[in-house]
Amino acid sequence: MKTATNLNLFNTLTRRKEGFIPIEEGKVKLYTCGPTVYNYAHIGNFRAFLFEDLLKRWLKHYGLEVTHVMNITDVDDKTIKGSQKQGIPLQQYTAHYVEAFFEDIKVLNIELADFYPRATEHIPEMTALIKKLMGKGYAYRGEDGSIYFAINKFPDYGKLSHINIRELKSGARVRQDEYAKEEAQDFALWKAWSAEDRDAFWETEIGKGRPGWHVECSAMSMRYLGETFDIHCGGVDNIFPHHENEIAQSESATGKPFANYWLHNEHLLVEGKRMAKRFGNYYTLRDLLGKGYAPEAIRFLLLSTHYRQQFNFTFEGLEAAKSAVERLRNLVWRLREANGVGSDSNVVDLVSQVEVDFESAMNDDLNIGVALAALFDFVRDINALLDANKIKRQEAETVEKVITSIDDVLGVIGPTTTEETLPKEAEELIREREEARKTKNWKKADEIRLQLKAIGIVVEDTNAGVRWRLEKKT
Ligand code: AMP
Ligand code: ZN
Repeated sequence: MKTATNLNLFNTLTRRKEGFIPIEEGKVKLYTCGPTVYNYAHIGNFRAFLFEDLLKRWLKHYGLEVTHVMNITDVDDKTIKGSQKQGIPLQQYTAHYVEAFFEDIKVLNIELADFYPRATEHIPEMTALIKKLMGKGYAYRGEDGSIYFAINKFPDYGKLSHINIRELKSGARVRQDEYAKEEAQDFALWKAWSAEDRDAFWETEIGKGRPGWHVECSAMSMRYLGETFDIHCGGVDNIFPHHENEIAQSESATGKPFANYWLHNEHLLVEGKRMAKRFGNYYTLRDLLGKGYAPEAIRFLLLSTHYRQQFNFTFEGLEAAKSAVERLRNLVWRLREANGVGSDSNVVDLVSQVEVDFESAMNDDLNIGVALAALFDFVRDINALLDANKIKRQEAETVEKVITSIDDVLGVIGPTTTEETLPKEAEELIREREEARKTKNWKKADEIRLQLKAIGIVVEDTNAGVRWRLEKKT
């Protein structure tokens, strides 16, 4: 009998928190739905990718070995439409956004997955899966030449999204990738080529056409993780139809459970409405960097609300995130200079407290709010001891180690080196920027910030004045 870890995760399949039991002891197989590369990812998308990064970092911190697969959706209704609008081949169109995605995740300090399979490079796996489904009687060819999944053949259809099977219009068909629960119907596994698809087609054993979006994730996850794997993630908008359909296709083909735990993040909102490209209410990472916000602050903001809670993006929130990151970074700087008289056992007690509290909060379905509260209580108490000159060298080192270990999970502190000297030209630029700020010439100040960045110097405006540091070299 395998025993549950004391890590509890909320499973959308069962709608409750469950003790996590990996299939193979000590290992986790994780699949997360990746970006559809038809545009720059917005920060709502990054909320999903950052939640997954936090989950993965926590699993690793817990001592589990994680194999992480994130697909790249580089052919679907949206990418085809986008490439046609620009009048360029699909591959050329998506290549730009794939590159941008990798740049963005690096900036946000998101750990790389082990595999990034692209849909267009896995067509044989998809056609094999579809053939298997046809062979078993779960799929059929419609009059339009496309191949559909017959939802009434799979009695478990609806088990993830909890839609009522009796309300399903089986026999009716839907060809587009995205549709609402109320429109649940037989969905397209393979879309026969039509003139509007232009260059987006493959000549295959099952005909000339292209895969439906859902079959892409089934084929690619099973190719890299096996027929049953541990955790599957995505945003709540993926629950239906995308993940429901993934389950139907995969479990019908293999007769085995597909993924054991389904974790879904809630949406990032803007004024109460989901941030989405189609609503035009979105910010990309690049928009926020262009306004001078540091990636660490953006990362902190998007991570700091529990993943199953919605929250509104605001600039006040981003400012607060920026101060929180500064508080952590300042503490590190202060610790490096600490040389006090010693705290008796105060530091030891505080350290064990924060370790226990942070860990138990994270084990409770990544309860980041409680985990961060424990961390910032610790920061406050250590700062008070530093104010009283009570932290001796060795204690400062212990505290810094704890902060570093917690930041291995959060990834928000960023570079903290202090010993560099400022090049002459940079000194002059920083002085000019100060002048510009004094006269509220923000445009000039931002331009100078970019000039400094180009020579590897990051300036930050903190409550205690302007700080600078050399950009971390990776
Ligand atoms: P897409 O590129 O549209 O396939 O989406 C990538 C990921 O972002 C998916 O897991 C979506 O569920 C998620 N997502 C989309 N919009 C939001 C949002 N406003 N807040 C949080 N996650 C989102
Ligand atoms: Zn997917």
